[in-house]
Order: sequence, then structure tokens, then C-alpha cells
Amino acid sequence: MITEIVISWRLKELEKHERDGIWVTDLIRCPLKREFEEKYPELYRATVFTPNTILGSLVHLGLENLLSSELNAEIEVRAEKQIGEYKIVGRIDAIIGRVGIEIKTSRADIEIPYEHHVLQAKIYNWLYDLEKTVLVYVTPDRFAEYIVEDRTSEEDILKLIVDKKAPRYDWECRYCHFAVICPNKIRKR
Ligand code: SF4
Repeated sequence: MITEIVISWRLKELEKHERDGIWVTDLIRCPLKREFEEKYPELYRATVFTPNTILGSLVHLGLENLLSSELNAEIEVRAEKQIGEYKIVGRIDAIIGRVGIEIKTSRADIEIPYEHHVLQAKIYNWLYDLEKTVLVYVTPDRFAEYIVEDRTSEEDILKLIVDKKAPRYDWECRYCHFAVICPNKIRKR
């Protein structure tokens, strides 16, 4: 019964994700993933059953509620900005004043903060006109905060939009739900 509730909640969360515009998350990950999500929605929906992502969603839910009740944070704040013909869309986990908060879960604490997360925080600083974004890592070995004050320029974002290198990072294929059908998958021993 609890499994049904959690899976149905995860499916609803997934369906909330709009398909219009270019999402900040699309700019920091393999560009093929979004194509596959649209082409193979069944495979995409199956991601709701992955225990690791369920854990990540529950951590987000808990920490966001705590930030809202203790610090009066705005939660899951959506924003969009236009650069020429492109609409950039984001949904940051929380905002307090002009400080953004982005929650990250990870299986390990090696090399945190990750490069793509720092890039995401820099894009949020631009998109929401923030002074800084705090990356909050929840891992089995460490709970740590990292402050990112830099921001991307419109030029940086345009470069990310046209960069179709797939994957963007070699390690992405190891954790990708679409690896089972992807011709670009990188196999590493
Ligand atoms: S397997 Fe690799 S290249 Fe293919 S979609 Fe996934 S991350 Fe991208």
C-alpha cells in the first residue's frame, strides 16, 4: 500500500514536468536524454521505480518542508527567461530572499560539489538574479553546503544550447535509464 502511494506520487511529479522551453537541467546533462524521454515515454516513466531516485525525491520533500517551515523559504520556484528565440525554464528547490537553495543527493561524497551541479547553480544565479545559490549535499557519508556566487552569461548559455555532444560527461552513461537503447553509450570498465 505504501509502495502504491509513493509510486503514484512520483508519477504525478513526473507528469508535472512541462515539455516547453529548454530546462536548466537539459543544459547540464546529455542532450540525447530529453530526446529519448519524448520518444520513449514508457521507459521514462519506468524511472519512478528506481529506489535511488525514490530516496532522492523523499529527501527533497523532507528538506524542502523543513526550509519552508523553519526559514519561510519559497519552495519549487519556477522561472523563465528568453534569450532570442530560446526560452530557458528552471525550477529551483528553494529561495530565501535572493539566495537560492538546490538540494543534491549522491551515493558518495567523492569530488562533491560536482561540476554539472556548480554549473546549474551558476545558471540559477543568472535566471533568478540571485546573489548566490547554496548546493546542499545529502550523502551517506556527508551533509555539506557549498556556496556558488558566480553566474553564467547569456553567451555561456547559448554555447550550452548548441553543444550537442552526447554524453556531456563520460560517467553519465553508467547511470542513464536510456543506456539500453542508446547508440552513443560509452562503456567503461
Ligand atoms: S547512454 Fe549516454 S549517450 Fe546515451 S542517452 Fe544516456 S547518457 Fe546520453
